[in-house]
Amino acid sequence: MSAPVTSLTSTEPATGELLWTGAVGDPDSEVGAARGAWASWASRSLAFRVETLRRFANAARQKAEPFADLIARETGKPLWEARTEVEAVINKVDISVAAYAERTPQRRLEGAMGTRVAVRHKPHGVLAVLGPYNFPAHLPNGHIVPALIAGNAIVFKPSEKTPAVGAYLVGLYHEAGVPEGAVRCVQGGPEVGKALASHSGIDGLLFTGSARAGLALSRQFAETPTKILALEMGGNNPLVVWDAPDTYAAATIAVQSAFLSAGQRCTAARRLIVREGQHQELIDTIVRIIDRLIIDHPHANPAPFMGPVIDNVAADQLQDAFLELMGRGGRAIRRLDRKDGDKPFLTPALIDVTEVAKRPDAELFGPALQIIRVPDFDAAIVEANATRYGLAASLVGGSPELYDRFWANVRAGVINWNGPTNGAPSKAPFGGIGLSGNHRPSAYYAADYCAYPVTSSEAESARANIGVGLADPNAPENLEG
Ligand code: NAD
Repeated sequence: MSAPVTSLTSTEPATGELLWTGAVGDPDSEVGAARGAWASWASRSLAFRVETLRRFANAARQKAEPFADLIARETGKPLWEARTEVEAVINKVDISVAAYAERTPQRRLEGAMGTRVAVRHKPHGVLAVLGPYNFPAHLPNGHIVPALIAGNAIVFKPSEKTPAVGAYLVGLYHEAGVPEGAVRCVQGGPEVGKALASHSGIDGLLFTGSARAGLALSRQFAETPTKILALEMGGNNPLVVWDAPDTYAAATIAVQSAFLSAGQRCTAARRLIVREGQHQELIDTIVRIIDRLIIDHPHANPAPFMGPVIDNVAADQLQDAFLELMGRGGRAIRRLDRKDGDKPFLTPALIDVTEVAKRPDAELFGPALQIIRVPDFDAAIVEANATRYGLAASLVGGSPELYDRFWANVRAGVINWNGPTNGAPSKAPFGGIGLSGNHRPSAYYAADYCAYPVTSSEAESARANIGVGLADPNAPENLEG
């Protein structure tokens, strides 16, 4: 039996330099600490918790530059993009305060016979949060902030690929006055994730990551329907371009959808569905744009459009998957190549997979866009839905009537018209169907899974009588003697 891993390191994908090293955490002691703290956090007033999180937003704003720098170094994403992630972390607080008030408000209703009915919400208790590496601050924060506002305590396990950002984020909560016990950080890989998920001391799990891990968690949680499980998973997202009058705009939307963040977004377009016979100019324009994309170190000048993927393992897997598509009849228009032998910089790839029989319904989490040519719009919709996932879908071009058809028939939690598949608005719910989630959407609706409703019929004094079904005490058969 191999010895348990006791330390964790993270290296910068763009340089290979060591960034962070630390000990693998102990879920048992972290859950214990959170359990010890949650009742006191839950008993603070809502105003106190909101005020504390506003201080967290201020702390993040004050440290925005070093925070963004760390995100850029640890993920390899361009500095400008890391800055937008920090902005999202800061904005999450106000959005979550508004969402808590709107989605889980206190309500008073009139009950039967003049009783008052109150609807209030209670926190679950201790919630585990498992984060992915692609937005290592924004996505866990998107669970943690609403969960803290609702009065839960948190045990957060960052991705093993981004432990430094995870630790930094938790440091900011503490600096702002969130009690140390109310947010705990436990470092480690999937084994620590499994141990945390199966810990009897948690009341639920908020997960963002791959469908593979989400399905494993779903099976595990089948034994504990008493605990809340929110799964935000991946996608195999279609982008349909149909009768688009502006080819350059359509090509630009395709490039943004597929290659922002080096394709490491859950909402990235993976499949470009085009009309046979109308496609060549669009493809040629996409090629011209991607050949100009700057792929470089996050801090490079001029600023890059995209950086490397997260590590060499991910780059190797993506290249293998791309070669497999080629082996099965895919025609590479731009290959998924390494820019720099031993670093995970990949060039944006385009591959026509129309002739590939039984196309794999897999999320290629990197800069690779598959093209599928179809004869008519019905076939485009069939192709768009030819996936077990259902996260994001876009139509570019067409008329309002065509968009109505697209919207009505395509199965996804984000459906856009004349915009990219990615960049979802943070003031709206965000989640997918099929393998993309378990019907617990996040973002604005995160409030829904952070608290449960309690309905109470209430009166100042007890008044009661039984109106029907009681025998008359004065009836002769009920009189004694
Ligand atoms: P991942 O599933 O490999 O890891 C996510 C987290 O789960 C990590 O902390 C990891 O250590 C942990 N984990 C992995 N296997 C586990 C298991 N069996 N039990 C318990 N914990 C486990 O995901 P990733 O590679 O870090 O992130 C990329 C994936 O996340 C992509 O599929 C992407 O589409 C998805 N994603 C989804 C959303 C969304 O909101 N829907 C957002 C961002 C990323």
